[in-house]
Amino acid sequence: MQILLTIYSILLGLVIGSFLNVCIYRYQTKEPISRGRSHCPKCNHTLSWYELIPLFSWIGLRGKCKSCHQPISIQYPIVESITAICFLLIYLKFGITFDTLIYFIFASILIMAAVIDLQTMIIPDRTHIICILCGILLLILHPTQLLDKAIGAIIVCIPLLIIAYATKGMGYGDVKLMGAAGFVLGWQNILFAMMLGSITASVIGIITTRIKKISLKTEMPLGPHLIFGILFCLLYGNQLINWYLTSFF
Ligand SMILES: [Zn+2]
Repeated sequence: MQILLTIYSILLGLVIGSFLNVCIYRYQTKEPISRGRSHCPKCNHTLSWYELIPLFSWIGLRGKCKSCHQPISIQYPIVESITAICFLLIYLKFGITFDTLIYFIFASILIMAAVIDLQTMIIPDRTHIICILCGILLLILHPTQLLDKAIGAIIVCIPLLIIAYATKGMGYGDVKLMGAAGFVLGWQNILFAMMLGSITASVIGIITTRIKKISLKTEMPLGPHLIFGILFCLLYGNQLINWYLTSFF
């Protein structure tokens, strides 16, 4: 049973990842999500069932459209694989619970927001709304966590708001993201998520400026790094906190 559910969570992640790709594409083209069958963005060829299998279609077609032979973005298999890995890790951590379902939704919306932020430098407001709804559902399941989550919503958000207002160097989308995610994760985990996100942003920022020889002032989205921190702390935040407390205190 355990192995079947493990495989199921991976397959579900692949399918949802594929759906996220559709949402990302249609967010940018402003097409409604419900608009008919998927098609190749370059030649408009309607995709048949065997071109729509997450991950495997891309591998089978060697990353090229069957009709026009133009390359299909590597974003598709990457988003599908990351969603599948996240779903697997969430299932392994939270088991067969309502929490798992809520975290599936939480992770999905964050993965989508990370890709949209990378491409457009905007985190859509619906990301924060869905995160807060996930937080409310979790509170209904675990009402004793109210204080932890309420502090989580403001502990990073308020300082970031001041920084964003004072320096104009940071988007309000990131501030809202950390407020909404803090409401889901609680105050300790969101602090670690912020720390982790800032570290990866600095490291990757320095590496890309070296490789691409661009100035450090070139605007790079912070959202994907913060989202990495949030998802990492959702899964391993408690271990990180324990390790920190035992190592330094
Ligand atoms: Zn095509």
